[in-house]
Amino acid sequence: MKISDPEGYLESLRGLKRDVFVLGERCDNTVDHPLLRPSANAVAESYNVGDEPEAPQLLFVKSHLTGKEISRFTHIHQSVEDLVDKVLMQRMLGRRTGTCFQRCVGMDGFNALYSVTYECDQAHGTPYHNRFKDYLEWVQDMNIVVEGAMTDVKGDRGLRPGDQPDPDMFVHVVDRTPMGIVVRGAKAHQTGALNSHEILVMPTMSMREGEEDYAVSFAIPADSQGITFVLGRQPSDTRKLEGSPLDVGNPGYGSQEALVIFDDVFVPNERVFMCGETDQSGKVVERFASFHRQSYGGCKVGVGDVLIGAAQLAAEYQGVQTASHVRDKITEMVHLNETMFCCGIACSSRGCETAAGNYEVDSLLANICKLNVTRFPFEITRLAQDIAGGLIVTTPSQKDFDNPEIAPYLEKYLKGRKDVPTLDRIKIMRFIENLTVGCGAAAYLTESMHGAGSPQAQRIAISRLVDLNEKKELAKRISRIS
Ligand code: SF4
Ligand code: FE
Repeated sequence: MKISDPEGYLESLRGLKRDVFVLGERCDNTVDHPLLRPSANAVAESYNVGDEPEAPQLLFVKSHLTGKEISRFTHIHQSVEDLVDKVLMQRMLGRRTGTCFQRCVGMDGFNALYSVTYECDQAHGTPYHNRFKDYLEWVQDMNIVVEGAMTDVKGDRGLRPGDQPDPDMFVHVVDRTPMGIVVRGAKAHQTGALNSHEILVMPTMSMREGEEDYAVSFAIPADSQGITFVLGRQPSDTRKLEGSPLDVGNPGYGSQEALVIFDDVFVPNERVFMCGETDQSGKVVERFASFHRQSYGGCKVGVGDVLIGAAQLAAEYQGVQTASHVRDKITEMVHLNETMFCCGIACSSRGCETAAGNYEVDSLLANICKLNVTRFPFEITRLAQDIAGGLIVTTPSQKDFDNPEIAPYLEKYLKGRKDVPTLDRIKIMRFIENLTVGCGAAAYLTESMHGAGSPQAQRIAISRLVDLNEKKELAKRISRIS
């Protein structure tokens, strides 16, 4: 049944029968687990029209496959405007949730595979593109969440997939039958894995001749036999189990990553989108990476908006908002945040059509975008902590505020400006703590560093994409060097 609202989405997750482990224990109902619910709430916002005037146009779009209205998270970008609107949607949802809302990885995977399956069929006579379109049409109709799974566990980073002492360090085909393939391996750091109905697997790197078993892409239901999920921890995550929302900082929303293990999982042929075409694998990685590096110019900027707002509130609640150095720091935060946004918009605006007819971003600018994202949220964080002060990590717990014996002392001694309730000040401190050193930092900082590839991956891409000879010619011409 088609999912049409946040409640329907949460209910659909309850129906999944998966092997999930959380803190060492089996978890049959992830959506109602207090550690996980905030992350499901964040994804659920992708189903919520909300109250921003621009939301309907950003969240919903016409399918080029069926002409029906679909979620942009299942859409194949048809124009430069679509690419720009994607970034605007991500900024909007970052502003709503103050965290990672997880659904973009599948969207970026769809858009990468759409053009690569087309080109693969042209080169090899394979049947992948129509197969993929059939799958996508079903995803659009059902409006489900599909997790994009790229990062393999990789084992010894100095060795190629086939040279690893354990061949399962990269997801690979272990058997081929007339009906489909059997795969084994594991994908690490899988954003939103526990909040997804399906998993879209892609190779993690460009494969070479002899590595055919590793050049594999497919989609399968998250509750397929042989798949196991193990939730990854985040700083201060167990505060969500304490029943003290104040101490969580962002009690409504969160992000989530998991290790996803494929133990001889059968994938039927109609869900296989690459199997052995090593020459196509690098294109999937590059295109997916470019789309996801574009994404960060939207989502992290939205989260940055919330953090800047929190820093400004902290300054006001403490009576320092007019100090020139505070104003200057806030201005610097805005400058850094909007610079990332400029990059997200620029790589979208310079997008172009692929042979398959969909639109992809300008790769060089998408890589510049993400490389900035590996730095700027850290500086924005430093400035927010500078403005907020040490209270972000020394504030007593909600239980202390609830204890009548000590609450009056806390009210009195943790007060800032007279007209601001003490608890409002504490809420903002806890939120800044959440985003900069607490569980929210997993999404705002570590993900900014390593999500969509670590900084070195962007540097390598930039050095490959830049045309230095053309720049040398410019210098020669102006310097009159023949
Ligand atoms: Fe979406 Fe950003 Fe989370 Fe990636 S990091 S899934 S782009 S919100
Ligand atoms: Fe990410």
